Amino acid sequence: MSILVVGSVAFDSIRTPHGTVDRCLGGAATHFALAASFFTQVRVIGVVGEDFTAQHEQVFRAHNIDTRGIEHAPGKSFHWTGEYRENLNEAQTLRTDLNVFQSFQPKIPDAYRDSEYLFLANIDPALQLQVRRQMPRVKMVCGDTMNYWITGHREKLLQTLREMDALLINDGEAKLLAGENNLVQAAKRIMQMGPKTLIVKHGEYGATAFFGKASFPAGVKNHFFRAPALPLAEVVDPTGAGDSFAGGFFGYLASQPSLTPAVFKRAMFYGGVMGSFAVERFGTERLENVTREEIDERFAMFRELSHLDVE
Ligand code: AMP
Repeated sequence: MSILVVGSVAFDSIRTPHGTVDRCLGGAATHFALAASFFTQVRVIGVVGEDFTAQHEQVFRAHNIDTRGIEHAPGKSFHWTGEYRENLNEAQTLRTDLNVFQSFQPKIPDAYRDSEYLFLANIDPALQLQVRRQMPRVKMVCGDTMNYWITGHREKLLQTLREMDALLINDGEAKLLAGENNLVQAAKRIMQMGPKTLIVKHGEYGATAFFGKASFPAGVKNHFFRAPALPLAEVVDPTGAGDSFAGGFFGYLASQPSLTPAVFKRAMFYGGVMGSFAVERFGTERLENVTREEIDERFAMFRELSHLDVE
């Protein structure tokens, strides 16, 4: 099974209470692809500039991620500058330089056409839609977005949402998108916009899945499910946690023969596991070095964390 992901491949300049880094490898598609690569074959569509070197590409290759869909264009790569103050759950965007993404027209290599799953990582919803329309036969389309696109490109985003099976966003962004402060009401509204399933990420507090009535197999009693996050003693850099959650979640789903409620719930836990690794170091450093054994160990910790015996 393989996942096709389109999204930003970027350089990030980040300040957190733990320090600063300048122009480290980042981007929504990068974090997603690294996290998902532990579970399934990943193919990336994006664009980079002349500042993206063979060494950067090697980070993808080392994880067996297919980079044939990453176009090299004249100019500079997407560059995001952000900081986190006391609230590590909320990034403050200081600058967004779209650079080569400004004139990007995504093209799908023939070798990617048989991808079964599609992830529309955070990027201009117009580009998400272009890719979605070129992949009409995929089994499942999940997507992400953020406040930058919700407030500045709302119409296009609403059009893209109509063609998504599932949306994964932060709780603040879910409320902003729905124009509603209560999470359950916000979820209802968003599911009327198109996605049959909504996964809301709560940063260090875990994630909640909401299922539309028609969207899920029999056997689910509630129309929602909450997965925990691991309380960590130290969060160095939250950047990429959401994308790593999405990568663990969707990567695990894609690796399974069928989409049962149990598989879906385990996928939520794998999302939490990958998000918890991502924040332990700046940029992609931790996901570049994590091992499958560490992932399995942490998955067991997550299970233990939320297990209740009923006598
Ligand atoms: P998150 O997982 O939500 O922390 O996403 C972090 C990544 O999103 C960073 O690596 C950024 O490069 C990327 N990013 C930030 N702003 C945007 C944007 N407006 N469009 C696409 N990607 C972005």
